[in-house]
Amino acid sequence: MSERDSPRYWVGDKPTTDILENAIYVSNINDIPSQLGGILCINLSNHQEIDASLRAFFRQPDRWSWCVYVTTETDYSQCVTDGLFDHATALETWSSIQPRLEAILSQGSIDPLIGWLGIHRRRRVFAFKSLESTSIYSYPIIEALFPDLYSTYRYVLSEQNHGVLEAEQLIDRIRVCPHCSSGHLNYIEVCPDCRSIDIDLQSSLHCFTCGHVGAQQSFQRRGKLECPKCFTQLRHIGVDYDRPLENHVCNHCTSLFVEAGTIAQCLSCRAKIKIEELAVRKYHQFKLGENGEYIYQHGKTIQAPELSIKGKVEIGFFQNLLAWLNKVALRHHEHHTLLALHLPSLDAYGKQYGDASLFSLMAQLTGRLSSLFRDTDICCQYKQDVLLVLMPNTPYSNVDVLQRKLLALSELIEDEDFELNVFSWGLPNAAIDDGISPWLDGLMEHIYAAR
Ligand SMILES: [Zn+2]
Ligand SMILES: [Zn+2]
Ligand SMILES: [Zn+2]
Repeated sequence: MSERDSPRYWVGDKPTTDILENAIYVSNINDIPSQLGGILCINLSNHQEIDASLRAFFRQPDRWSWCVYVTTETDYSQCVTDGLFDHATALETWSSIQPRLEAILSQGSIDPLIGWLGIHRRRRVFAFKSLESTSIYSYPIIEALFPDLYSTYRYVLSEQNHGVLEAEQLIDRIRVCPHCSSGHLNYIEVCPDCRSIDIDLQSSLHCFTCGHVGAQQSFQRRGKLECPKCFTQLRHIGVDYDRPLENHVCNHCTSLFVEAGTIAQCLSCRAKIKIEELAVRKYHQFKLGENGEYIYQHGKTIQAPELSIKGKVEIGFFQNLLAWLNKVALRHHEHHTLLALHLPSLDAYGKQYGDASLFSLMAQLTGRLSSLFRDTDICCQYKQDVLLVLMPNTPYSNVDVLQRKLLALSELIEDEDFELNVFSWGLPNAAIDDGISPWLDGLMEHIYAAR
């Protein structure tokens, strides 16, 4: 890409001093054509307009490859742009990016986040604090590059786990509601006995003569202290009476106590939560991690994600084994079971949340499945979203138990979009003798049709 055909755009008022040479002036972000590797300067003064323009800009494809500047910085712009516009710096940065961009393009496509971080080494994934959002913090650049993501926090965690991102600095640690992930919490003191929030501080007195404990006011008689129960005059503290440690009273259950309990009330979903049940979230500032660097340098190298379950074999081997075991079963009257686990949401999941999230889901699944199967069971990833499990000497009648276990397992997976369907067949099956491949193709048709 030569300097001539580099797109340069200027949005907002025309500059009075520092101009961007050869720039095209537009009034709206949407007037900028989709192109790679340009320079953009936003010259607006209204902070909300600046932020909205930046959001709209990064949502468009290929914008990760642009150098973006503003003439007025906002908290938001600091998270997604390359800073304040300065003509010399902008051109210098832009020229240093061009060879890197060309190298990337020669490798095909790249994850926009890795591309954005990779081409300009001073870029970081910053956390942005907004009291208007229930989660309080977000990662604007990730939100902008992946507008369909439902949680930038989870995405970042998963990218960190896979070494795509590396934490550089802890920005904040907050507690959030375990039900709705809101950080808007109110901490309230409550009665330790009945959990009512209707409690008060109360100065109490304790009569030594009869043991009565009550509010200080109830002891006031004609300017002196007198026990309302036994009418003894209380003259000397420590001799006639003292102050009990319990200086709180519950207006609901009249209990007296020393220390109130504390609960958190979610201001977003109204849930009442024990402090120890609040979820803790750490917000870091991130840079490109080691794996991210590798992907940036060498293009996409991660293969299609696979389940790595013990006893896993290649498709060809599995087919031969199945055909052979079927013959043996027919001759010796044995009974085997073939299970199919179909993960219909897998493909969509990968597309929506990215490969990194998909990998972490697969890892979770692998761990849980491995605990369920025996060493003698043979697994085969027959399709990207279908896993076959051959269970020798397991009568088909036992399948119910296993199916229940598998369903329980799928509920344990910590993702609401995750779906697992289980199918099963008893062996021997005479139809296998007509050819194992067509028989398995038939099963796949059945599985995909069942959606
Ligand atoms: Zn008394
Ligand atoms: Zn109470
Ligand atoms: Zn909540």
